[in-house]
Parts: sequence; structure tokens; C-alpha cells
Amino acid sequence: MISIASPDIGQEEIDAVVAVMQSGVIVHGSKTQEFEEKFAEYCGARYAVAMNSGTAAVHAGLYAVGVSSGDEVITSPFTFVASANPILMQGAKVVFADIAESDFNIDPKEIEKKITTKTKAIVPVDLYGRIYDHASVQSIIKGRDIKIVEDACQAIGAERSGMKAGRFGDVGAFSLYATKNITSGEGGMIVTDNEVLAEQCRRFRHHGQSPETQYEYHDIGYNYRMTDMGAAIGLAQLGKVDRYNARRIKNAETFLEGLQDIPGISLPTEDPSGKHVFHQYTIRITKEYGRSRDDLAQYLEGEGVQCRVYYPKPLHLHPHFKRFGYVEGDFPVAERISREVLSLPIHPKVTREDARFIIDKIRTYAR
Ligand SMILES: *Cc1c(COP(=O)(O)O)cnc(C)c1O
Repeated sequence: MISIASPDIGQEEIDAVVAVMQSGVIVHGSKTQEFEEKFAEYCGARYAVAMNSGTAAVHAGLYAVGVSSGDEVITSPFTFVASANPILMQGAKVVFADIAESDFNIDPKEIEKKITTKTKAIVPVDLYGRIYDHASVQSIIKGRDIKIVEDACQAIGAERSGMKAGRFGDVGAFSLYATKNITSGEGGMIVTDNEVLAEQCRRFRHHGQSPETQYEYHDIGYNYRMTDMGAAIGLAQLGKVDRYNARRIKNAETFLEGLQDIPGISLPTEDPSGKHVFHQYTIRITKEYGRSRDDLAQYLEGEGVQCRVYYPKPLHLHPHFKRFGYVEGDFPVAERISREVLSLPIHPKVTREDARFIIDKIRTYAR
């Protein structure tokens, strides 16, 4: 079976975790701090604040930029639910804006239509490992007091104009979940250049207590702290992130070569001014292929290729969000794309032969 995701945990990670467990400090200690420093350096940010999930990172980011009840926050309906739930956790209203077919990310023109006097922030998502159209979003919000919390959970190491993912907002949020491009088991990270925002995030992950004044609480907070075992895994993984991403990009090149001339198969577009890190390699299956997306998925599974649909239903059509009054037809691009997409295995353990095998199967199954 060629699996859709497979974390690469080896002796280096195992040794690092054992060393932490023997050290006596297992939470929120020097490994976490070292991980934060190296992570900030990797992203080219001044500060990084470790969290225990990507969800916590998005939540802390929203808190730090001041999102609270009564505010509106704009995000994509075509993403993992954790881009939107933290908005509700802050008591704010989720306002969806449709995506662009070209990059699966939020469409800046659609954002413009959704801005009101209550818009406090935008959560653009770097879906599948490609950075959102940052320049257009910036020009739309210019002169307005609207903050950006970049959901870079799928995009560590991605680049645009020489700058790394997570840097295209007031804060950037990362996930280090098992299937992301690098992992700490569970985990997350916030990056920012703003000292005040970094401080707010540090407080928020530790019950609202500022690091300097023990047992003095300034505001509400949560327990979003990272373990040092997680940080040790994350540090080992961070040392390999560029190699991992290079493997993903190589596999994407193989897919491009092998799949580009198959009618009805449309491939993810490259990022002309940057680096797409292919957290997912997501193709679209349209009528000309002669078989349905779901039939192809089932056929590939039968041939030992695990594929997945990210995401089968846009967020606004789930009961959880429908109750805010959204109906089918509100976001036609997201709705259509969700019926067409299929993600193929592309992680670093997928070999060139595996990729060729997958290409061959997709080609033979076409009608
Ligand atoms: C994974 C992910 C998250 C949440 O990260 P967790 O670590 O699972 O909490 C948020 N947004 C996106 C786009 C993600 O892919």
C-alpha cells in the first residue's frame, strides 16, 4: 500500500525524546525554547512561540491581534475546520469568502465583498502548501485596521518573493501534527516580528500569566503548552524540512510530467514567484476523464494507492456552520472544487517508482 501520509520518525527522533525524558524537564523547558529559536530563525521571523497544536496556534494568533466577541473574521470555506473554529472560540463571527480555482486559496476579490466595519481580521490559508495571494489581499485592506492571521499549517518552508510561509500576516500559525510536512507528534507554532503579539501568545498558552510574573494573571488563557518530548522531535524534524520538501517537489515534477496530457485531469499550478511545498498533491477530475472522481479513488485504493479527498464538503455546508444561515450555492467555486479534488500520495517516502505506478494507473483507468 502506498499510504497518503507517513511520518518519518527514526533513530534521531527516538534518541532525542529519550534524552529529554532522562533530563527531568519534560514540559516547557529548554528544548521547547531551543525549538522556538530555531523555528524563528528558519522562518526568518523575530519570534516563535510553541503551542501544543495548530488549532491552538490559530486561536492564540486571533487572540493576540485582538479578535473578540462581536467581531467578524473572514476565512476560506475550503479548508480544515481548524481554520474557522478558533474564530468561534473567540466569540467572533465566521464570514466565508469563496476561493479561486487557480490556487484553491481564498479569492481576494471575494474578500473585498465581505469586508464590513466589523471586520477585524482575515485568516487566509496556504492550502496544500502554497502561499495565498498575499499581495492582492494587502492592497485590499490597505488603510483599514484589519489584521491577518496566516494559517500556514500546511506550508512550512513554502516561499514567495524570497520570504517564507508564516510571514505573510501579522502572525503566522503552523501545525506540527503527525501528517504535516514536519511533526512533533501534536504541536503548533506561532511566528511574528511583533514583540507585543509574541508576548500575548506566550500568555495565552499559559492561563494568561505573563512569563515574568508567576501566578499573576492578566487575562484569560488556556493550557496550550508544548512538551519537551514534542519539541525534541520537532527540532530533529526541522533539521530535515528542506530535504523533505525537496522530495515532495520532486514527486510533484514526476506527476506533472506523467499526468499533464491526460484529458479531464487538471494539475495543481506552480507558484511562479515562489515555492509550493506540496503538503498535498491535489488533482481535479473533470468530465473529460470519463470516470467519476469517486470511482477513480476507489480504483486506486484497490490497486494499493491510498488517496484522500481534502475536503469533500466545504465548511459552510456542515451543520456546525449551516446554522449561521449559509446555504448551497453561496460559494460555488468551493462547492464545485470539493466535488473534483483528489489528493495523491506525495510524501517523502513516495519513490519515483511509486509515482510512476500511480501515473500509470490513472492513465489506464481513463475512458
Ligand atoms: C492541520 C491544520 C490545522 C490544525 O492543526 P492541528 O495541529 O491539527 O490542530 C489548521 N489549519 C489547517 C489548514 C490545517 O491543515
